[in-house]
Amino acid sequence: MRLILLGAPGCGKGTHSAWMVEELGIPQISTGDILRDAVKEGSELGRQARSYMDSGELVPDSVILGLMRGRMAQPDAARGFILDGFPRTIPQAEGLNGALGDAGMKLDRVLQINVARDELIHRLTSRRVCPNCKAVYNLDFKPPKQGDICDACGASVVQRDDDREATVAQRLEVYERQTAPLIDYYIARGLVAVIDGNQGYAHTRAEIETALGREAKR
Ligand SMILES: [Zn+2]
Repeated sequence: MRLILLGAPGCGKGTHSAWMVEELGIPQISTGDILRDAVKEGSELGRQARSYMDSGELVPDSVILGLMRGRMAQPDAARGFILDGFPRTIPQAEGLNGALGDAGMKLDRVLQINVARDELIHRLTSRRVCPNCKAVYNLDFKPPKQGDICDACGASVVQRDDDREATVAQRLEVYERQTAPLIDYYIARGLVAVIDGNQGYAHTRAEIETALGREAKR
């Protein structure tokens, strides 16, 4: 099963790709991980990527696509994969089509997890992190046991600058602006399954399982 997972920050993408990786036995492939690995391995494409990153530039689509092709050809991706954070642009989506076509493969589904904007803002601004041990909390559903004290190490938890309301609103706007054309692109190809991510883990998971043609189960 070859999937793309789309959803704004805070939509629950991480949570849901985790169980899909387990249940479907396919890897989650993210641009960030691939870039990190390529740079670490020092491959030719990795060196190219690094030179852009070191100079603070965006890594061009051609480099990212080359790395993606390599990653999708790994044995663990033979039965499929979940793409997260890629493609981000129409040229990347077309490059992906080409790469899959060359390999005699095609995409099965684009899962778009939809969560209302107010709910996303609420979820993201409720996040707290421990600056010492990096533990992550949420004031709603996973608060520290005592006030703002980290359960794991006793340091005071804080709100990251990224999680403040003004920044969150801006991140969501950027996401929507970038992703809207991509969603249209895949809707036109009949691949998009819209998932309601507003109603908690079990409900969202059941919708994903239905979209994947699997029997819903908890
Ligand atoms: Zn801590």
